[in-house]
Amino acid sequence: MLLNATQARALFTQALQDRFAVLAVNADSPSAVYDCLEAARQCSAPLIIETSLWQLQGRSFGAGDALLGLLRYLADVAALANSERFMAVPVIFHTDHIKGPQTLAILKAAIAGVSVSSGKSSLLLQASTISLDSSELTEEQNIETISELCRHAETLGVEVTLEMEAGVDDGLTSEEITRRLLGSVEKKYPGKIGLWAPGLGTQHGLSDKGYPTFSAEAVSRQRELAREITGHGIGLALHGSSGLDQESLRAAVREGVVKVNWSSESLLIRNQAAMEFFDSHRPQMNKKHPDWKKTVMDNGLQSFIAERYLPRVMERIKILGSDEKAGRLSLSGKL
Ligand SMILES: [Zn+2]
Repeated sequence: MLLNATQARALFTQALQDRFAVLAVNADSPSAVYDCLEAARQCSAPLIIETSLWQLQGRSFGAGDALLGLLRYLADVAALANSERFMAVPVIFHTDHIKGPQTLAILKAAIAGVSVSSGKSSLLLQASTISLDSSELTEEQNIETISELCRHAETLGVEVTLEMEAGVDDGLTSEEITRRLLGSVEKKYPGKIGLWAPGLGTQHGLSDKGYPTFSAEAVSRQRELAREITGHGIGLALHGSSGLDQESLRAAVREGVVKVNWSSESLLIRNQAAMEFFDSHRPQMNKKHPDWKKTVMDNGLQSFIAERYLPRVMERIKILGSDEKAGRLSLSGKL
């Protein structure tokens, strides 16, 4: 079931209380979206499907048009998440790294909802949660843009649950920065930030050496600071988890990380499976081969990838402790 902003916030609150984290996959194609939902279903786990600007503009979704991409991506996630097969899987649709001149237009559309029309009627599809990529923004711009999104939701009379970030690739975020960023928005729009993403010593991308700079102690410190600033607990979002070892991931969850973003390693697994498929199916790709058609159709490749990818997603979900949690959530709304 696709969660709304209020239900998503309730899920994060419960994850913080019970100390588990929800896997947030930056899913790059419709097949990847399906594989992730299937992995969550088999683990009985909640799941976050998130998308960045490059997917919205990518060939599988918007083909250059980010707003069309948002509509197609959301329609795909909503159709799957609300289908009978996945109704028991709590699914959050989250906007991940979106930056550049179109940022506000895209995020405002994700909050207001994008509509798909059948000609006679139309259906409005909204994102569950929103984050803002602040990597090219000053602190003031970060605060102002988040505030603008809160104002936008208020004007429309809709709920919004936001993830606010602070230099996630820039080493450990200081207490002063957290107080300035989180404190400023919380003061003006209390309760709208449902996730705090400070720098925790990880980096986006892949690392063969892990992240010696990662600090579980920083997670704990930031969790307590966020509690003090907001007056209630909010969980942390961890970016750049691909190169982090399993023990550090478990420690991060123990200390208050409730959302773990997963992109680079996920892409790598799918890419390696695709290479294996092409390497091992060369004879069948000859047009005279009896299996030529079923091999070269997209389904041949995607099914081969799914077999290898699904177990890895399930493994990740279990590391974060969110397996078997789907049935135990008390979110406001029917599940
Ligand atoms: Zn990220």
